[in-house]
Amino acid sequence: MENLSQYHETVPQSRQANIKALVGQAWAVESLELSLTDQDALKASISDKLKQQDAVLVAHYYVADVLQELADETGGCVADSLEMARFGFQHSANTVVVAGVRFMGETAKILSPEKRILMVKKQAECSLDLACPAAEFAAFCDANADRTVVVYANTSAAVKARADWVVTSSIALKVVSYLHSKGESILWAPDKYLGDYIQRETGADMLLWQGSCVVHEEFKADALMGLMKQHPTAKVLVHPESPKGVIDLADRVGSTSQIIAAAKELDAPKFIVATESGIFHKLKQAAPDKQFFEAPTAGEGATCESCAMCPWMKMNDLQCLDQVLSEGKDSEIVIPFEIRENARRSIQRMVEFGSKR
Ligand code: SF4
Repeated sequence: MENLSQYHETVPQSRQANIKALVGQAWAVESLELSLTDQDALKASISDKLKQQDAVLVAHYYVADVLQELADETGGCVADSLEMARFGFQHSANTVVVAGVRFMGETAKILSPEKRILMVKKQAECSLDLACPAAEFAAFCDANADRTVVVYANTSAAVKARADWVVTSSIALKVVSYLHSKGESILWAPDKYLGDYIQRETGADMLLWQGSCVVHEEFKADALMGLMKQHPTAKVLVHPESPKGVIDLADRVGSTSQIIAAAKELDAPKFIVATESGIFHKLKQAAPDKQFFEAPTAGEGATCESCAMCPWMKMNDLQCLDQVLSEGKDSEIVIPFEIRENARRSIQRMVEFGSKR
């Protein structure tokens, strides 16, 4: 933390405690162990229901392998959050079923307001989203009204609606560099590690909100150095939601899609990967002849919850998906019109910026 600058405040203890409690609750949700036969039967039932309901399944790289496989097998997609929303928008299906966390469903709804957007697990949160309550964030923006507000995709629709720009980790550097070149000062939220990384890379004047990802924050630089010594030919791929010490050891820093692309492109037999472990499913498909190792989360400062798994992503399972397609209504994403329209404007700005570069 010592290298981070310009925090607006320390994280309120009550908010930290709330996030910790929600992490505990998410881990306490148990999935039934299924035999392969039961799993196949459930997949067939889900596949039929998707067809009957004119629905398509979009899954994030971090959900369980079986959901990623089902999305691919049924003509859906496995992607990062923006690509999931884009795919849902471009697909002809009337219903988009999102295997991921809530902000991903909201982004899909913002881009496709006329479609029915269902979450496999509506209670699936994200610590970055939870760390940035809309009312507090709006007050922070009001107090710094001279700054351009740039928020990460991992935020609620209401926070996106308050922003000038929404960015994903794959485009954040380019957008902030562009704004910096125009002499604009930035208010960044919610991920302090990603914000700090962008600030160091671009030299922009950035005021940082104090959120963090409970998964990426756990990667440990010392233990990573130990693993690098054991595998001296391995390249290190790091997601920028990780702490600075871990980012400093990376051969490539990038979003989930950029990490998968790097594993294909880079001429190395082995990779150490610092991001959520669900990504290994696509990494092995993308580069089957290469070896992948999880970056360590153990070491000094580790807790019993330290692991490279997102408790909320892991709430998504086949049984919930089957149930949602049977009952539907309670899992639907609904966003008030004004919030949705303002959030769409901020996302659209990023999409147009990306298409010109
Ligand atoms: S891995 Fe981190 S950033 Fe991604 S959904 Fe989970 S808590 Fe949020």
